[in-house]
Amino acid sequence: MSDQNKIKPLAMDRREFLKASVVVTTAASCPIALNGMELEMGGKDFHQIRTFAPRDKKVFLCTMCPYFDGGFTYSEKGDIKKVEGIPDHIATRGKLCSKGLASFFNAADPDRILQPLKRVGKRGDGQWQEISWGEAIAEVASKVGGAISDHGPDSVYLNEGAFKDGGSLRFMDTIGSSSVIRSRFPSISNMAKQTALENAIGVDFLLPDLENTHYVLNFGANIFETAPPLAQRLTDGVVNNRLKLVTFDVRLSNTAGRSNEWIPVFPGSDSIVALAMSNVILSEGLADTNFINKWTNHKAEDLAKSLSTFTPEQAEEASGVPAKTIISIAREFAKTRPATIISQNGVNFHKNGTASETAFLLLAVITGNIDNEGGYCLPRQFDIPQPQPAPVQKGSLVRRLNHAFPFELKEGDHNVQVLFNHMSNPVYASPAASMWSEILQDEKLVPYPPMSGLLSCSFFVFFFIVSIRERSGSDE
Ligand code: SF4
Repeated sequence: MSDQNKIKPLAMDRREFLKASVVVTTAASCPIALNGMELEMGGKDFHQIRTFAPRDKKVFLCTMCPYFDGGFTYSEKGDIKKVEGIPDHIATRGKLCSKGLASFFNAADPDRILQPLKRVGKRGDGQWQEISWGEAIAEVASKVGGAISDHGPDSVYLNEGAFKDGGSLRFMDTIGSSSVIRSRFPSISNMAKQTALENAIGVDFLLPDLENTHYVLNFGANIFETAPPLAQRLTDGVVNNRLKLVTFDVRLSNTAGRSNEWIPVFPGSDSIVALAMSNVILSEGLADTNFINKWTNHKAEDLAKSLSTFTPEQAEEASGVPAKTIISIAREFAKTRPATIISQNGVNFHKNGTASETAFLLLAVITGNIDNEGGYCLPRQFDIPQPQPAPVQKGSLVRRLNHAFPFELKEGDHNVQVLFNHMSNPVYASPAASMWSEILQDEKLVPYPPMSGLLSCSFFVFFFIVSIRERSGSDE
């Protein structure tokens, strides 16, 4: 080693040492100083990089998907600069997904529609004219009033999408109509699940109790990226219960990668795997026969007989999942109590989606994991007091699934005079999209289709989406 490259001892006199110590100490205490400064300024948020401008912090509800997570918006001079989750939020504990974090761009989108628009051309021509709120409300009110007096209140229909805030149903109660078409989720992606649940148990939604379960079978859901409320509960379940997570997915998603086991499966073959697992559980006497006999319209032995043709070997051929893996996962799932199931787009987007969802539900049913702590739970209704006086509810609502409605309408099952659409865009996202397009362009079938929320050229009046900005108007 040359003299030049030798490490030299640090030459520092007492004065330089003291100077260096001050720099190091200041750097180390900097976060404390910054925290202290924030507290001194009322815990408020500031643009710390460029302008140091104060920011307004307000609560908002993310409406980018049906979880409706709560968050904070931070704005400077009325412009939202960022959003973040609420640390104390009961479901998310402060997390928002990437879609939620980017949602505030909607508020300043130059194409965002801020005024009601009235269609001026023929349906489908895409010709619109801005009108005032007063004009829009008067127009819609006169059509609704006319429909009620000439055809009765049930001729006013509501197609309600994902965002159920109660206001639209309250409106239907107020005018005395029970004609509600529903779709819990706004898009085609969840329709298979919704249809399967609706057909099998009469509700369109089940929630896995991830926080209290000991075993999770995941078919095609990537909740660590897409569903913070479920991801948080799953994390709690892992930490508190050491639950086991087994993911069947065609790809190594973030959730599959964090599972105890990732089992790759051919697209669209999940149903046959689930049916083979049910066969194993029933034939090996691992099923909850009391639950089956009490709560289903089949006897356990009949079910076992009809499922006996779905062998693990047959499932291996169809899915690529080894028969011995199917058998061992089936046994584990049946023997671990409580256990639950999650499933999502990985299955719903593919062929056999409805059959797959029905087969997953069967797994939960035969093991008695329905509506138990740690199982697959029915939706709960929270009784939130309505503003008074509340309208009288008119019996039970005539609820139709969004994708069945256009077929029923064409067959003459409905007399529609006015069709409201709330937070749903069936022409774009319903499985029966082309049928929706057809009926909305037929002025005899749907004489007056006002629109609220999302755009289609066939509608008559288009109200803008009540977006992040409007919902950030209240303080914590
Ligand atoms: S999951 Fe994402 S998009 Fe959905 S409500 Fe939460 S933050 Fe918004």
